[in-house]
Amino acid sequence: MEIKNIAVIGSGTMGNGISHVFALNGYNVTLIDIKPELLEKAISTIKGNLERQVKKEAITPEQLVKTLSNIKTSTNLSDAKDCELVIEAATENIAIKKSIFETLESSCKPEAILATNTSSISITEIAAFTKRPDKVIGMHFMNPVPVMKLIEVIRGIATSDETYGIIKSLAEKIEKVPVEVHDYPGFVANRILLPMLNEAMYCVMEGVAEPEAIDTVMKLGMNHPMGPLALADFIGLDVCLSIMEVLHKGLGDSKYRPCPLLKKMVAAGYLGRKSGKGFYDYSKK
Ligand code: NAD
Repeated sequence: MEIKNIAVIGSGTMGNGISHVFALNGYNVTLIDIKPELLEKAISTIKGNLERQVKKEAITPEQLVKTLSNIKTSTNLSDAKDCELVIEAATENIAIKKSIFETLESSCKPEAILATNTSSISITEIAAFTKRPDKVIGMHFMNPVPVMKLIEVIRGIATSDETYGIIKSLAEKIEKVPVEVHDYPGFVANRILLPMLNEAMYCVMEGVAEPEAIDTVMKLGMNHPMGPLALADFIGLDVCLSIMEVLHKGLGDSKYRPCPLLKKMVAAGYLGRKSGKGFYDYSKK
């Protein structure tokens, strides 16, 4: 099956990045969200990011115009009906994903592939909301999507070899690097990254070192581009907590218990960059 028409569900951080990349590579994208103003904001973000690429001479002004013309927007999920591929990048909430996949199951062509960008929900569980679990797959893009090369391609228990092969070659066509991963809590990226961030939080809580010192150790000592606490603030502490909870519940090992300091900060509304306060203070920036 040739993929030309792609629907992206959810126009937030990830949905606008995914739409940007496919539209730039010549695919027809239908970007769907629940409110017109969210879609307007997404298009203006995509335009801003494309303008930055033009400034850096990574793309031409003509490519900018063509890319924007490749994106249609809609507030109606049934506008995904003619697409060969749907990539769901809506809010990380199982009830929302269930309702979206049930609707897609009834409105999309039977041969359409239904992918999800979830960071932590089981692909097998999402596939069970449809009657085509062989055509459901995880496409876990990294943030920011136009910059990051990796796509974790996650096979649910019933994902077919054919579906996996189509998604792998599609990822290569948009110059990303697909990596095959099986469906276990946190997949690979978050299973390895989040316990490291959680451990850095334990170091703060136990007074091993100040946040700046911990981040400096990891940047200068391990060559990490960003320290773990600055990265946790960037991801969002609420997101970090929910991924740790998924690992703890799904794998049942106490080594995944979320750091009590992380729980306390989330309860206080200290969510990192987005709330202006996390391990660092962003209120003056
Ligand atoms: P976000 O909050 O920025 O955007 C989510 C969007 O989904 C919102 O615009 C919301 O209005 C929309 N939405 C909610 N319900 C919807 C519905 N029924 N139909 C259509 N749209 C709906 O979230 P995000 O950070 O872009 O995350 C989206 C998905 O990507 C999540 O599953 C998340 O786990 C995953 N993810 C996030 C990151 C990240 O760094 N932010 C990285 C990888 C994967």
